[in-house]
Amino acid sequence: MATKYVYSFSGGKGEGNGKMKAELGGKGANLAEMCNIGLPVPAGFTIGTEVCNYYYANDRKYPPELKAQVEAALKEVEKVMGGEFGSKTNPLLFSCRSGARESMPGMMDTVLNIGMNDETVISLAKKSGDERFAWDSYRRFIQMYGDVVMGLKPQTKTDPDHFEELLEHKREKAGVKFDNELTAEQLKELVAEYKAVIKKHTGSEFPTDPMEQVWGCIGAVFSSWMNDRAIVYRRMYNIPHEWGTAVNVQAMVFGNLGDGCATGVGLTRDCAVGTPGFCGDYLINAQGEDVVAGIRTPLRIEETLGKDMPKAHAELDEIGKKLEKHFKEVQDVEFTIQEGRVWMLQTRNAKRTGFAAVRIAVDLVNEGLITEKEALQKRRIPADDLNQLLQPIFDTEAKKKATKENRAIAKGINAGPGAATGQIVFHASDAEALYNKDNNVQLILVRKETSPEDLRGMKVAKGILTAFGGASSHAALVSRQMGKVCIVGCGSLVVDYDKGTISSGGTTLKEGDWISIDGFTGEVFSGKVETKPSEIVQVLVQKTMKPEESETYTRYAQLMGWVDKYRKLKVRANAEQDEAHLADAFGCEGVGLCRTEHMFFSKIQEFREMIVSETKEQREKALAKLLPFQRADFTTLFKALGSRPVTIRLLDPPLHEFLSEHHLHDDDGLADRLSKAVGISKETVERRVEELKETNPMLGFRGCRLGIVFAEITAMQARAIFEAAADLKKQGVDVHPEVMVPLVGFKTELDHQTKIIRDTAEKVFAEKGVKVDYQVGTMIEIPRAALTAGEIAKTAEFFSFGTNDLTQTTLGMSRDDYGSFIPLYRENDVIGDDPFQKIDQTGVGRLMEIACKDGRATREKLKLGICGEHGGEPSSVMFCHKLGLDYVSCSPFRIPIAKLAAAQQALES
Ligand code: PEP
Ligand code: MG
Repeated sequence: MATKYVYSFSGGKGEGNGKMKAELGGKGANLAEMCNIGLPVPAGFTIGTEVCNYYYANDRKYPPELKAQVEAALKEVEKVMGGEFGSKTNPLLFSCRSGARESMPGMMDTVLNIGMNDETVISLAKKSGDERFAWDSYRRFIQMYGDVVMGLKPQTKTDPDHFEELLEHKREKAGVKFDNELTAEQLKELVAEYKAVIKKHTGSEFPTDPMEQVWGCIGAVFSSWMNDRAIVYRRMYNIPHEWGTAVNVQAMVFGNLGDGCATGVGLTRDCAVGTPGFCGDYLINAQGEDVVAGIRTPLRIEETLGKDMPKAHAELDEIGKKLEKHFKEVQDVEFTIQEGRVWMLQTRNAKRTGFAAVRIAVDLVNEGLITEKEALQKRRIPADDLNQLLQPIFDTEAKKKATKENRAIAKGINAGPGAATGQIVFHASDAEALYNKDNNVQLILVRKETSPEDLRGMKVAKGILTAFGGASSHAALVSRQMGKVCIVGCGSLVVDYDKGTISSGGTTLKEGDWISIDGFTGEVFSGKVETKPSEIVQVLVQKTMKPEESETYTRYAQLMGWVDKYRKLKVRANAEQDEAHLADAFGCEGVGLCRTEHMFFSKIQEFREMIVSETKEQREKALAKLLPFQRADFTTLFKALGSRPVTIRLLDPPLHEFLSEHHLHDDDGLADRLSKAVGISKETVERRVEELKETNPMLGFRGCRLGIVFAEITAMQARAIFEAAADLKKQGVDVHPEVMVPLVGFKTELDHQTKIIRDTAEKVFAEKGVKVDYQVGTMIEIPRAALTAGEIAKTAEFFSFGTNDLTQTTLGMSRDDYGSFIPLYRENDVIGDDPFQKIDQTGVGRLMEIACKDGRATREKLKLGICGEHGGEPSSVMFCHKLGLDYVSCSPFRIPIAKLAAAQQALES
């Protein structure tokens, strides 16, 4: 039997169906499917993608069987539609459209009105009773055919557009503004001029034989698969060249046969916010491309179609419902209304925003169209899109306007999603002072990079913008933890603290000027751009809105209910005492990382006294001052979490982050204050600062190295933890602290710290007369720790992967400096994703796998988690599920995202 290349869809039956996207392309498969479910589809046929591959493999020739199959299919269409291709009395016209497996909007070619010539134009005029329409259809066909098949389409901006020039000239001569105001006579002249232009520029006559025309169009559509645009698009979206395109040849229906006709593109429900009901654009008395071309402003289906064409509108509404019921998805459709009759030309799953994705998925479940599990599918709600529901966002129109006004001045790494608009402030202290004067002040903290001291400024600012740093730089992770909008590594931004200015791309702004940052895209705009607050945050965090008042929240809550039902991974938060309420509001199941150094930001003087101390006595004196602060902070944190586990990490960062020559330089009295408090000379303070300076602080004196060299620091922190825990236990709170040692590479390091922790615990329990259930474990953030995990697990009761450092140490790329080359790496396909945002599964992931396996071989019940920034990134969360981790820990605002990703992976596995 001959290979089947052509699949008809006519007379209420398709030879193909919706599942055959690989063979028939998306458009062809769905045309067949719509036909099969009884929707009005103009008859036609699809030439399969296989022919496209044959065409390219055989020097642009077709398989020998194709001709007969196409001719037979054409005859079938004639029969069903009751017309004749090329007939002088009852002409039938065709369209010819591309259609790949995945839609490649606008990349390939289309020709309409195939079959028009000097004879059919007359018969079409008679049949339609509209001479103007017939000649307009003819001139459109010649134009498209000339462009697409005969190669006259301008390829660059400077190439002449012969047809448009003639058309414009004709309009001018006729003194009219729009094409549809040209008379039949004028269009007739235009047809002659078009033909002449083809002859002049191609040397060939415009073909009048309908069969020659149709083959010309089929060839042109197959050829357009390999045009530059299409190739670039495929590369961008990872669409294999071997897929090929199908070609759809279909009987023409007309939206331009008078005022009873229309053409449009619609959605079965709104895809910006998700409201139900058929909606979209349409134009009366127009052909398909007029709607998208933007020459005439389209009307809104949901606003006026019901008045203009009530019957057709009701029918479309019904079709929309039927399509959704059948495809179980919101659809994006093209249609034509010919003399009151609706014809469907295309349907496909619609693209949507995160807002719409949630609302639509939940509504479809509530309407009984899909199951809870289906609602959670990754393709319906990409986990990251939940972000949009949590963050304030720019008003779409306001942002468009800002872009139009050329106010986009720079672009950096989008580190903290959301939108913020505010006045530029450079220093944390200024930000605080402004905030204290007026709590409603809107500020954007702009820094070259941030340091721990900036935290106070970050807290009161709406957003943070830095010229340096990457996605896991301090600024980025702190701002994400606080749920602040943040852009880092904005390379083109020149920040001049002395002059109080920033400049980029020829624009200079000064302190106090307004600036707007889009943390979703990394775009920076000068001036104000209006924002909208997130309702979910108002309900859960600010509690300024009742749950039942927000439709967004109601659906979000329903969705999260299903998420919790199906996920296996627990989700904890990276939080200290100040974020505990946020973590709780988003439903964390514990704290996976409390970075104790963050707790010192507000006790910086005492902390610095500890740093500059020369002797153990001096240090212990400073630590004694810090103890009550730490205890109080732990108490707040434990209380907020109740019986949920709280992982407290001992001091980790290099000390110079808190005290460097910059700090001494920026704060005149600092050295004096420290020298007095500690009882050492000012010179000693300066010398200590000099001693603390490191060439490569990320690989220097930090992590457990601090606690080993200054054991008294670990002892103080352990005491603060256990005193707080014991006191709460006495009050009836069932606390579960987990003490975590950072940057361990050797089991002996962990042993050293564990001994101090356990000894301190015993002492405190004896003093307080109560025991607390606790664990001691370690971070895995150094390759050696991962490789010797079997050994380390003899001491550690849990592992938490610190993938920020593990990425830095495995890749040998500084987490603060990689911004200078990673963007280029990605542009040039050296690496695919930013390894500091998505776990490098082959490298870092391999080490994690080894650590999990070896760790659990030693200790079967070893608890495994992750607390690096990757813990809130969907693909990394899914990877953690596959590794068999117990939990992921992430910034409070990413908890819902991590939960959804966890559920999606659980359902997929
Ligand atoms: C890590 O390294 O992944 C981690 C969580 O610790 P920090 O970011 O504080 O170094
Ligand atoms: Mg770390």
